[in-house]
Amino acid sequence: MQANANWKGGRYTSPRGYVYVRAPGHPRAAIYRGYVKRATLVLEESLGRYLIPPELAHHRNGIKDDDSPANLLLCANQGEHRRLSAQSPLSPSKGTT
Ligand SMILES: [Zn+2]
Repeated sequence: MQANANWKGGRYTSPRGYVYVRAPGHPRAAIYRGYVKRATLVLEESLGRYLIPPELAHHRNGIKDDDSPANLLLCANQGEHRRLSAQSPLSPSKGTT
């Protein structure tokens, strides 16, 4: 998966453990000063389209910085995401992943 190849700019991990990368021109980039959650970008790459709020990416294994395509699942909204998080192998007590 070469999805990261073009993202040569900055990258950071948020306090909650999510990885953000610079994605100038992305519809969501304005929200976080040009950065977009990497999970969102990888999932969009898999889907071939942008996520449409309130859609979001869920980490199947509960590891928030494991943004491999196989680990990401499209959630229709936060309610569905909470259900899935409760089934994660890791405890959801540290927040949703
Ligand atoms: Zn999740």
